[in-house]
Amino acid sequence: MSTTTIPDTCPRCDTHEVSLLTESPVPGRWSMYLCGVCFYSWRSTEPGYATDPATYPAAFKIDPADIPKMPVVPSAYSPQRSCSVAAVVSAGCRCGRASTGRAAARSTARAAGCRP
Ligand SMILES: [Zn+2]
Repeated sequence: MSTTTIPDTCPRCDTHEVSLLTESPVPGRWSMYLCGVCFYSWRSTEPGYATDPATYPAAFKIDPADIPKMPVVPSAYSPQRSCSVAAVVSAGCRCGRASTGRAAARSTARAAGCRP
């Protein structure tokens, strides 16, 4: 049974949605915590600047209200389900369903369901 005391406050965003992420394989050595708001995680054995909201560097603090406005890095990549005919003709098929010859590309792309 764990006797870990879960911190009350996230060092980075100062919210109170902290949960126990995991514990050391050797019982009692360390615990890891996870913030459910900003997803910051930290180990109990890290220095105060990484674990204590009062000494966490102000430059790296996060306002939870800003999280929805933050860019996704790297940007979310949504591969096309299929290549357009124009894309197949000009750059070759990237979805692998159409052959790359110019004339063949058009018919193959259409047959493959690539969006014209
Ligand atoms: Zn947080």
